[in-house]
Amino acid sequence: MRDIIIVGNWKMNKNNAETKAFFEAVDSVAKTNKGLYGVGVPFTDLKTALEAADNLVVAAENVHFEDSGAFTGEVSVPMLEELGVKYCIIGHSERRAMFGDTDETVNKKAKKLLAAGMTPILCVGETEEEYDNGKTKDVLVEQLNGSLKDIPAADYENIVIAYEPIWAIGTGKSASVEIAEDCCKLVRDVVKDMVGEEAAEKVRIQYGGSVKPGNIVEYMAQPDIDGALIGGASLKPESFIEIIEKTK
Ligand code: 13P
Repeated sequence: MRDIIIVGNWKMNKNNAETKAFFEAVDSVAKTNKGLYGVGVPFTDLKTALEAADNLVVAAENVHFEDSGAFTGEVSVPMLEELGVKYCIIGHSERRAMFGDTDETVNKKAKKLLAAGMTPILCVGETEEEYDNGKTKDVLVEQLNGSLKDIPAADYENIVIAYEPIWAIGTGKSASVEIAEDCCKLVRDVVKDMVGEEAAEKVRIQYGGSVKPGNIVEYMAQPDIDGALIGGASLKPESFIEIIEKTK
C-alpha cells in the first residue's frame, strides 16, 4: 500500500510571522503514522517553517537545476539541502505558464533533486481547451515522458506526481471524483508504460485543483489518488486542519 501524502502549496503567500502562526496551529495536528502532511512555502519562509516543523514536512515550491552560477534570482538544490529541505514542487502549471518551465527543465530539476535524496512533487495537467478537445491523455503522455525522461524505475518510490487540471486550479471548479480518478489512473498507466508495473505501483499520485475540506474525503477514497496538492484551502489553518483531521 502507498502512504498518503497531502501537501499544501502556499504559492506567493505568507510572511515569516504568518508562517510561524500557521505551524503553531497546524503542526501538532499533523502527527500521524499513516502518511505525510506538509506545506510548500516561499523560499523566504523555508527556514522558519523547518524550525517550527515537528510533524509537517516542508517543501520548496521550485528549484534551479544547476548547483550555482549566473542565474539571478534562482535557488539551487544544494542551497535547499543546506536548510534541510527534503521535498520540492516542480513544474507547477503557474511556473510552466508564467516562468518558462518546460518538460526539459522539469526533467533536469527532478534528476537533480533525486540525486540529492530529495522528493520531487512533479506537476502535470491539461488546460481547459485541451480537456474540452479530448486531449488530456496526449498532454499527460507528453508531459510525463518529457518530465520523467531517463529516470530509472527504482527512483519512482521517491517521486510524487501531482495531476492538476489547469481548469480546476483556483477556480473553485474541481474535477469530478470520476475525472480525477480516471486521470490519476492514466498517469499511473503512463508510468507503467515508461518504467514498468512495480514503479507504477509505488509512485504516489496526488490530485490538485480546488481541493477543500468538503471534497477531500471522496478524492482520497479513490484507488489511484494517494494524496492532494492544495492551494487556497492550505492557507487558512482551520481549513488545512479540517483536511488533515478528515484523512488521518
Ligand atoms: P487550488 O487548491 O487553490 O485550486 O490550487 C491548486 C494548486 O495549484 C495546488 O498546487
